[in-house]
Amino acid sequence: MTEYAYVGISPCGCIRATVVDNPGRAKWVRKEVASFMRAGDTIERMAVELVRVRFCTDIHPRKGGCPHPGDCPYRPREASIRL
Ligand SMILES: [Zn+2]
Ligand SMILES: [Zn+2]
Repeated sequence: MTEYAYVGISPCGCIRATVVDNPGRAKWVRKEVASFMRAGDTIERMAVELVRVRFCTDIHPRKGGCPHPGDCPYRPREASIRL
């Protein structure tokens, strides 16, 4: 069975926050997602296996301190195109 998670994509294009979509904890999941949105993240829902490979583990020293703005190596290029 595929598990899904919500991710928060930072303005720099990196996935920097995630929460597993657990129906048994829906209220808590919504709170987490709301906190990602408050931080300015774009929310996406994807399979947990994808989150594992796309999550950006590189250090962002401070706000705007992305080591690779708009070009996260963990994220497929086509997925970073914004309309
Ligand atoms: Zn970044
Ligand atoms: Zn990154």
